[in-house]
Amino acid sequence: MTIRYAIRPADPGAHLFHVTVGLERPDPQGQHFALPAWNPGSYMIREFARHIVRLTALAGGRKLRVEKLDKHTWRCARTEEDVTLAYEVYAFDLSVRAAYLDPEQAFFNGAALLLAPLGRELEDCRLDIFPPAGVRAGSWQLLTGLQAARGTRAGEFGAYLARDYSELIDCPVQMGRFAQGRFDVLGVPHQIAISGRVARLDLHRLEADLTRVCEAHVRLFEPRQPRPPFERYVFLTLAVDEGYGGLEHRNSCALICRRDDLPHLGMKETTEGYRRFLGLVSHEYFHAWNVKRIRPQAFSPYDLGRENYTRLLWAFEGFTAYYDDLMLARAGLLSQAQYLEALGRTMTTVMQRSARLKQSLAESSFDAWIKYYRQDENAPNSVVSYYQKGALVALALDLAIRGESGGRRCLDDVMRWLWRQWRLAGPSYRGIEEDGIVDAVTRATGLDLGRALRAWTEGTRDPDFSTLLLAVGIRLERKLALDSPHFALLGLKLQGASGEARVAQVFDGGPAQQAGLSPGDVLMALDELRVTPAKLDALLARYSPGDAIQMLAFRREELKRFDLRLARQPPPRFVLEVDERASAAAQRRRVAWCGERRR
Ligand SMILES: [Zn+2]
Repeated sequence: MTIRYAIRPADPGAHLFHVTVGLERPDPQGQHFALPAWNPGSYMIREFARHIVRLTALAGGRKLRVEKLDKHTWRCARTEEDVTLAYEVYAFDLSVRAAYLDPEQAFFNGAALLLAPLGRELEDCRLDIFPPAGVRAGSWQLLTGLQAARGTRAGEFGAYLARDYSELIDCPVQMGRFAQGRFDVLGVPHQIAISGRVARLDLHRLEADLTRVCEAHVRLFEPRQPRPPFERYVFLTLAVDEGYGGLEHRNSCALICRRDDLPHLGMKETTEGYRRFLGLVSHEYFHAWNVKRIRPQAFSPYDLGRENYTRLLWAFEGFTAYYDDLMLARAGLLSQAQYLEALGRTMTTVMQRSARLKQSLAESSFDAWIKYYRQDENAPNSVVSYYQKGALVALALDLAIRGESGGRRCLDDVMRWLWRQWRLAGPSYRGIEEDGIVDAVTRATGLDLGRALRAWTEGTRDPDFSTLLLAVGIRLERKLALDSPHFALLGLKLQGASGEARVAQVFDGGPAQQAGLSPGDVLMALDELRVTPAKLDALLARYSPGDAIQMLAFRREELKRFDLRLARQPPPRFVLEVDERASAAAQRRRVAWCGERRR
């Protein structure tokens, strides 16, 4: 039987969607319905049900009693008749994770809007999507990874189909007026929608560059017969003034980016912002393999009502974060120098924070729900990023494999091995066990790197990057990092670049912490000269490491005096440099790893 959903953007001004769910032959003991507590890919309990404003049930044309059992579950009274639920959802979360509606545009994840009839999640679904009330027909477009039903043209309002509930909520929908690009990747149609005003957007360049990125990913996983694992793919993009993020899905992704990061007509160079956007695209597309298909056993299937614990997010997010920029380099969209610079930045960020010595990547993965996704001011001292350090472990693993196999094997072989397991298993795929990555590395490469990998992921040991990088002819240099003097010399970060100089974070063991400065303190004067966010670095630039200074700051509106000694040994900055004197074999391995050397 088909479960029939309908979504109406009923009141865009009040940000209200009207949703109905029609179910034939409900559980005669009283049908349960539930809304997911979280959205796969975003590991935090979001309790979407808090946005359901009112809910009623009908059976046989009469109102049916509904009882709420917990924060996201409802039970209908017993009935033999078909049941229809009708409810309103407030949608005003302009992120990739939930739902949003206003008179200009709408976006939703099914997890935030569509109640599942419990016990019936494997049945096929039909979703009718109506245009918003008061909007002229044809003036809004629609894009989704869902398949259009017969009679509905893809990209128009109408009926869409999903094989089951998990597919239904894995295909977000973007609506409104948006720029739209189309391109083919190895014979498979791809589309990108961009909502939000972008001046003189260069769609052709986007299409051309995305084609290169996507094709590189497909060829990584399927070098012999390159073909994506989906029939079509859509990028749903919202361009805003400030914002950055993405969420992966099986044949689509939702992106939010800065409008200034997108290319404009006549732009020849690849700006820092555009690199950031391409990195985001590359990241989410890689997830179509790594996590949407190759996935931990803990996600097979997802339990949408509660936290799903795995110690492996470093492999699913970290490896993806490693490959996002690497694939841009291999596709020729980043030069070797740009790629090495980006790696150096990641290394600097991770190594400058003490969190990596306190929490392992496995622990960070497991606790993502309460730590990585709920970071507070102490996060740099307590939460290691399974994205950034996970990417560095992927780098270390890749280099170790390349070094030990004399360049005959690399991390690509591990990804392909994992991919083959998914393809061979088909519907009986059970996912990767919690200690399964070590096994995959051994089987894919014939090398025993288990001890090192466990020390880097289950323990807190830093990989020996200096030695590992020699395999690809790269020298790791530690340089004095004085580009951000207030961080380097004081060991703190400010909340913003304007307004008052309020301390956002205080780093472990740094001068600010030793002198007793806290997050929330407002810096007022340094050696009796006024401090503002704009002036602080210029003031500090006149001092040397180890100098004594006096800082005045307000704490809870009370003026305090702090005597500090500027850091004697500011935390280093890591720079990766090509070693021209490295062996020819190492030079060849470098090209195989991150592409040709260009400008
Ligand atoms: Zn990701």
